[in-house]
Amino acid sequence: MPQKLGQHFLRRPATLEKIAAAAIPEHADQVIEIGAGEGVLTERLLERAGKVYAIEVDPELVARLMMRFRGEPRLKIVAQDVLATDLTQWGRAVVTGNLPYYITSPVIERTLAMGKLLERAVFLIQKEVAERVTAKPGSRDYGFLTVATQLHAHSKLLFKVPPGAFSPPPRVDSAVIRLDPLPANELGDPTPMLAFLGLCFKHKRKTLRNNLAPIFGRETIESQPEAGLRAEQLTLEQFRDLYRRMTGG
Ligand code: SAM
Repeated sequence: MPQKLGQHFLRRPATLEKIAAAAIPEHADQVIEIGAGEGVLTERLLERAGKVYAIEVDPELVARLMMRFRGEPRLKIVAQDVLATDLTQWGRAVVTGNLPYYITSPVIERTLAMGKLLERAVFLIQKEVAERVTAKPGSRDYGFLTVATQLHAHSKLLFKVPPGAFSPPPRVDSAVIRLDPLPANELGDPTPMLAFLGLCFKHKRKTLRNNLAPIFGRETIESQPEAGLRAEQLTLEQFRDLYRRMTGG
């Protein structure tokens, strides 16, 4: 199996069951699975969902999925790169998967960008990234990925999964996270805040003064009480406040 596609297959039935139950506690009308592989999670998702869209890029695995689920009308196998797939095309859905780790961040980003069409997301990802997504302000792992996620969703690290649960075992520990989108009325257009956060975290070790002065001018940032702090010390609410004061928005 080409390791370049992040192909580490889950072998533990109990872990697969836990992921399926976290993604779909009762029933879901539609589920998108990213990186279906040999279909071990797909099978459990079909038990809980009306319709499953299984995205898989490797043609050999696509062929195996077709054989395994021959004649299953509730499964649509989507044979393409997830990063070239419009995740909103099927309407509102749960998104889940044992993700190929090399594209974890862009997959999370695209999933959150589904906005109101995202019902819930549950992903098995590398533990380090799970800790970054769910970190608290001031902690070592807190950063752009944490606040960018908070703009769209509440996140929770559900449980850890050791390398031995996979075949072949990955070199890193893994963990399952759940993302629950914020209520529709709290989901504004995230674009300006994302750009602002990108600037604040541009050089993680630098102060906000040094990161923001080139864009906003030294005078504007100097008058803010947060000027001497680093981005990793601020909560999302504090970033919002600072942004409002600096832009008058
Ligand atoms: N779901 C299976 C399991 O739990 O055993 C496989 C998980 S494996 C970690 C990740 C899967 O994602 C592999 O089957 C791999 O071929 C697939 N994959 C890798 N890159 C992809 C991409 N860009 N788009 C869609 N699938 C991809």
